[in-house]
Amino acid sequence: MGSKDGKFRVLFFPLMAYGHLIPTLDIARLFASHGAKATIAATPLNAPVFARAIEKCGTEISIEVFPFPSKEAGLPEGVENFEYVRGAEMTNKFFKAVDMLEETLERFVEQLRPNCLVADLFFPWSTHIAAKFNIPRLVFHGTGSFSFSVSENLMLYEPYKNASSDDEEFMVPNLPDEIKLTRYQIPELVLLGADTELMRFAKLAIESERRSYGIILNSFYELEPAYVDYYRKISGRRTWQIGPVSLCNRSIEDKVQRGKKASIDEYDCMKWLDSKEPNSVIYICFGSIAMYSAAQLHEIAHALEASGQQFIWVVRGCTDQESNYQEWFPKDFETRIEGKGLIIRGWAPQVLILDHKSTGGFVTHCGWNSIMEGISAGLPMVTWPFFADQSYNEIFVTQILKTGVAVGAKQWREAASESPVVKREAIEKAVRQIMVAEEAEEMRNRARKLKEMARRAVEEAGSSYSDLSALIQELSCYPA
Ligand code: UDP
Repeated sequence: MGSKDGKFRVLFFPLMAYGHLIPTLDIARLFASHGAKATIAATPLNAPVFARAIEKCGTEISIEVFPFPSKEAGLPEGVENFEYVRGAEMTNKFFKAVDMLEETLERFVEQLRPNCLVADLFFPWSTHIAAKFNIPRLVFHGTGSFSFSVSENLMLYEPYKNASSDDEEFMVPNLPDEIKLTRYQIPELVLLGADTELMRFAKLAIESERRSYGIILNSFYELEPAYVDYYRKISGRRTWQIGPVSLCNRSIEDKVQRGKKASIDEYDCMKWLDSKEPNSVIYICFGSIAMYSAAQLHEIAHALEASGQQFIWVVRGCTDQESNYQEWFPKDFETRIEGKGLIIRGWAPQVLILDHKSTGGFVTHCGWNSIMEGISAGLPMVTWPFFADQSYNEIFVTQILKTGVAVGAKQWREAASESPVVKREAIEKAVRQIMVAEEAEEMRNRARKLKEMARRAVEEAGSSYSDLSALIQELSCYPA
């Protein structure tokens, strides 16, 4: 098995969402840099995410394109990425389409005969397919060991059942640190229990993960040693921390080509940042899925202006109106902020911005990729979780790493419209706290140390580099 040239060959089958596609590209590049050949399976509209970046990788990374069954699942044509999914009904249809891909994956494995399959959590049948062809399946998880540990303990002990209301705090038992949560901070999926379609799917995914070879994580050992050890112990699962994976993008060109085409000329963006003092700009971006109401965007605009800070704000759209930016911004907002604030409508070259020396803080929705990218850039963060593991990631940054402050978005739910608006005063306060307040310097120093640790982890002989080398070596001998 493996490629004709005898090289170790790995097939990646990522979920069609940017938070999964982008780190998959980075991981494929990491495998290739360790001498492996990587193939990424992608739908026609998602393939460009990889195409731009892999041109210069020669034959080490290739793409296999397959059709996404949007129509068969009742989705509008062209909906091949979670970015375009709105509401519960469309979400169900999207995952119905995802669930139709079993045969596609099986065909790829049969044709390509890789040595190993890296498939997302959302493809529960992939462990079975890998077993059929006698190859190991690794699960890629877009989160860290802290969040894993919290989730595992919530499932094991169900401590939220003892809380008398959604906002009463309860302790998550047996963790290395004292961690309290409220029911508002737990995904509805967990609270609703086994009776829902989604929970049944989640259980299948977890079961399939248990039978897989192990899990690769975009994290590094030194970031969360107690939780890496703890999670391995309580779950019995094998994990490899191989991140921060975004650090494989070293040159400006790499960062420009990473992911989706930006809605701003990257060099204009750099020029704007070049004209600013070090650590003087705060970057606000809520990832590729989260959307806020017009009322919330209005509050953010007021807060940014009142904070007196220079900023880059990425605005994707909002839950109430799809495109009318003028109505969300306060009157004459854009004229007043000229030179001081840069608004990117759509997609930003995030890693390029975070890594620039003028960027001094990050307001984030706590998607795990964004958290790892913020850590890699050595930035203090304002945390504003939205859904899934993001509330746990907030706790990790604010309470364990102590490199951020929470904006106070406590009552979040899968649908943004149910979340109360965070008022401008709270946002302004949090922005000042990480940019200019007394505690900002301490947070920045801690964040800088983490950045150095992150960079050491991916260097030759660093923990992430060694973990990946050891993994590839072990897999090359499979079955032992
Ligand atoms: N991203 C980007 N530009 C944007 C928005 C997002 O480059 O305007 C990238 C970001 O760098 C990260 C990914 O998209 O790598 C988003 O993943 P994350 O886990 O942070 O959040 P999600 O989008 O999955 O909620």
